[in-house]
Amino acid sequence: MMAVAMTSKDYVDYIRKISARFEVLGDYITALDAATGDGDHWSNINTGFLKLVDIADELSQMSISDMLKKIGMTLMSAVGGSSGVLYGSAYLAAAKATMQEQTITLPVLANLLEAMQTAIMQRGNAQPNQKTMLDALYPAVQALKQALAEGKPEIDALQAMKLAATDGAAATKSMEAVRGRACYQANKGVGHLDPGAVTMSYQLETLADSILTLI
Ligand code: ADP
Ligand code: MG
Repeated sequence: MMAVAMTSKDYVDYIRKISARFEVLGDYITALDAATGDGDHWSNINTGFLKLVDIADELSQMSISDMLKKIGMTLMSAVGGSSGVLYGSAYLAAAKATMQEQTITLPVLANLLEAMQTAIMQRGNAQPNQKTMLDALYPAVQALKQALAEGKPEIDALQAMKLAATDGAAATKSMEAVRGRACYQANKGVGHLDPGAVTMSYQLETLADSILTLI
């Protein structure tokens, strides 16, 4: 069986899907960030993805690495707050990790997501279990890498990645914040989901679903 491989056009289709998903979630994500932060997370992320949709045709003509770099630079300049810098750095790192790649196969996906994870950890000075976006990304990367190392079918590897992201975001509810604005709350945000982990999990879920449609 042929290995699944995303082209730039496929990745841009994913960008359109996740942007459409974010567009209708304003009330929910804004409420999450209002509870533990300053309430701008949805506006930040939604603005960024709408910018990407604006340049979708241009992105779809680029090599994988150039596309990821352009996404990173666009998010860096269009998205306010911590998430703009963190996603910008993450996508620039993903671009560096994919300079030799023609397509995004699952091993390439694991490498590029791990590069994003490392960039966010470095730029945010953050570790897993600190109630941030990393708590969706880190377990998803682990699950994908483990499934690939075990030689699991691609469908199972993607389902494992998706489930780990969803569960990871849900687990932030009981975490005490060490990074991000929630750490200034008296109770460190315990009892509230981290908005950045929720939006990260949505991206990883939608990305996995997009790749599943190609299998
Ligand atoms: P800001 O916190 O500057 O208002 P956003 O509201 O857009 O930015 O994003 C908040 C999210 O960013 C948090 O929910 C958290 O997931 C993530 N975040 C904030 N600071 C960090 C950090 N130092 N490392 C990793 N993620 C972080
Ligand atoms: Mg905020």
